[in-house]
Amino acid sequence: MTKNLINILTTSNHGLDDYDPNSMPVAKAKLHIRNYLNPVTEIESINLHSSLGRILATDILSPANVPNYDNSAMDGYAFNADDISTHTPTTLKIIGTAFAGKAFAGDLSKGECVRIMTGGALPGHADTVVMQERVSCEGNNIHFVDVPKRGSNVRYAGEDLAAGKTVITSGHLMHAADLGLIASLGIDKIKVYRKLKVAFFSTGDELASVGQLLKIGQVYDSNRYTLHGMLTRMGVEIIDMGPIPDNPELLERTLLASAKMADVVISSGGVSVGEADYMKMLLEKHGQVVFWKIAMKPGRPLAYGKIESAHYFGLPGNPVAVMVTFYQLVREAILVLMGQPQPEQLPLFSVECTEDIRKMSGRTEFQRGLLFADTDGIWKVKPTGAQGSAILSSMSRANCFIVLDENVSNLNAGTKVQVQVLDGII
Ligand code: AMP
Ligand code: MG
Repeated sequence: MTKNLINILTTSNHGLDDYDPNSMPVAKAKLHIRNYLNPVTEIESINLHSSLGRILATDILSPANVPNYDNSAMDGYAFNADDISTHTPTTLKIIGTAFAGKAFAGDLSKGECVRIMTGGALPGHADTVVMQERVSCEGNNIHFVDVPKRGSNVRYAGEDLAAGKTVITSGHLMHAADLGLIASLGIDKIKVYRKLKVAFFSTGDELASVGQLLKIGQVYDSNRYTLHGMLTRMGVEIIDMGPIPDNPELLERTLLASAKMADVVISSGGVSVGEADYMKMLLEKHGQVVFWKIAMKPGRPLAYGKIESAHYFGLPGNPVAVMVTFYQLVREAILVLMGQPQPEQLPLFSVECTEDIRKMSGRTEFQRGLLFADTDGIWKVKPTGAQGSAILSSMSRANCFIVLDENVSNLNAGTKVQVQVLDGII
């Protein structure tokens, strides 16, 4: 990070020629922020069990073949394809059974086969498995109904993962499948980046804490609760610095204490034009921070920069704007800082919107939407009612964002729109 962040963002030629401090497209703001992110580098070794949501700090190599022996993909009979002629009927003698976890000890001789269960190791000299449904059984003999191809129904050693192969690369965010995959290699400890520390606070003289009686002109501080939820879901270590009144000394103290303790500092409120400009003054005094008007709704004012060594995001105060700016701008930055160099982009799907949408062109809007299956089982979307940036219930009812690009204006019911699903299954 540079001491001259503001200058660089406003004057450099690194793709910033058309920088417009009055209104920056969302994608561009994301790219600018990306240039200044320095991910955590400290590594710790943890049990595989507790690695969900953590970021791998080394490649995981397969220490052995998976599976590590040739085995059967079916319940059936293992034999050598040389033993059956291309003309049925052929008869083979059953000389034993191979179970998963209990191999048949011995090799096949000519004319012999072994009853084998799914996952059972192939006996010596066997190279093919016939499904039990494809043979007829008479005493200790099987008769072939047809001739299976050599190698049928066999899972070969190393077929899933060959020994020495890179299975997952460093920087990967651990999901449930990854825990299982790494366990399947017999590995129980892995190296991950240390947790990112994120401190956050709300600003505003009007804020009352939950549990207090609300006076005229006050609102409950809900932003710390949504931030708490969103950050917890991201698996970072959270430090809640509380609600802070618009008081320069208190704000200064909180800002500096947060920057000392955390890698990232997030505040809500106090960044819009016309507000008591304490935050602006403080940020100029202690850090390098840019105040942006982003061409998005909700969430137009946003501050980004560095306070001492911490990354700082100054989000707007309106409750929906906090969530939208967090998901659209902060989330990806946090993933990079956590150690994931290329965070997966959230997919956009195109679906029909069943209601009219009011929208001004010139900015990206993130309306709150409800994806639902119509009577024919086709998924469609509708907005969740009033879309004001203070109406948090619209966010609570939503299961997606309806993402309306800058060039889109009013839309009629029946038009296709882009949606971004809020929840994933893993
Ligand atoms: P500001 O960005 O500080 O001008 O705040 C914009 C609007 O969001 C005002 O109506 C504030 O009362 C409201 N607001 C600010 N912070 C919070 C908060 N922590 N919880 C709920 N509403 C807030
Ligand atoms: Mg305020």
